Amino acid sequence: MPIVTPLTKLLGIRVPVVQGGMQWVGLPRLAAAVSEAGGLGVLTALSQPSPDALRKAIRETKKLTSKPFGVNITLLPTINPPDYEGYARAAVEEGVRIFETAGNNPGPLIKFFKSQGCIVVHKCTTIRHAKSAEKMGVDVLSIDGFECAGHPGEEDIGGLVLLARAANDLKVPYIASGGIADARGFAAALALGACGVNMGTRFMATVESPIHQNIKDTIVKSSERDTVHIFRTLHNTARVFKNKVSMEVVAIERRPGGAKFEDVRELVSGARGKLVYENGDPDYGIWSAGIAVGLINDIPTCEELVKTLESGVERTIGNLQGLVVAKSKL
Ligand code: NAD
Repeated sequence: MPIVTPLTKLLGIRVPVVQGGMQWVGLPRLAAAVSEAGGLGVLTALSQPSPDALRKAIRETKKLTSKPFGVNITLLPTINPPDYEGYARAAVEEGVRIFETAGNNPGPLIKFFKSQGCIVVHKCTTIRHAKSAEKMGVDVLSIDGFECAGHPGEEDIGGLVLLARAANDLKVPYIASGGIADARGFAAALALGACGVNMGTRFMATVESPIHQNIKDTIVKSSERDTVHIFRTLHNTARVFKNKVSMEVVAIERRPGGAKFEDVRELVSGARGKLVYENGDPDYGIWSAGIAVGLINDIPTCEELVKTLESGVERTIGNLQGLVVAKSKL
């Protein structure tokens, strides 16, 4: 039986799962495969070198799927500040109607997308930020727990408490992000009032994910203890895979007197991290991973994965219903 939620209705998708925007991973092949499988595929705007390249990626995705897909724009400190507005305009002009925004000071971008009649899913890591995005008119919030890959914010609140707070405090529908990679987590998110889930790391280990097979195999071999936080001391915390480079960054940050971004810049650059996905060496640079790596044991196609999630959620909800027994049957 289908899982019908405000998210499936709003986005016109079959299964309430959104593929998280992932730098260097949210490329046309993966986004299209997720959308074809019944979820929402998402292209990562900043993985394209320019707004024009994003236009090409959107056209390529449309050739691979006629189903809805979205574009992610993340606003965080960068070595070379991107033309956010240019990416946003290009995507809207190419007909994209669903956007995932994330990061600092998203107001102007959200205002622009809403003025163009688009649907905005805004990702945030605190209830405070969620409420202010609500006021800006976002359609869906993506509530990102401390378990997540990439940037979890600086307040370290896990998904269990954050989602329960969202259930009490938010008016707009929200999806759960961070730490979800299987049907149990998916069903738990629905129990916590979410209308769907966002999964990033889980989609990295799929057949259509555009990263080197060795990195997919590394994810499968890893446990929930294989991530680490970098940039804690720079107030731009990021959860990344624990490897030689990330441990070196942490060591530099722990030096007496601390570190400036310049001290770690060469080690952490996204351009170097991108090569990890190309050459398959997990120790070559920084790459994002959530603690959900501990839940990933296979490399399915997106279709197999989404189907497994769908049937697993149905089974989990059925099992829970089985716990509620009429008094007369006791
Ligand atoms: P980059 O090479 O510009 O920077 C590498 C890392 O260093 C990023 O985590 C960045 O936030 C951080 N950083 C850069 N300048 C900094 C500073 N002055 N102080 C503290 N930290 C700093 O990054 P990139 O790989 O080219 O990616 C471009 C942008 O996309 C970055 O802001 C990155 O954080 C962001 N991003 C997006 C997604 C997504 O899902 N869309 C995922 C991860 C990162």
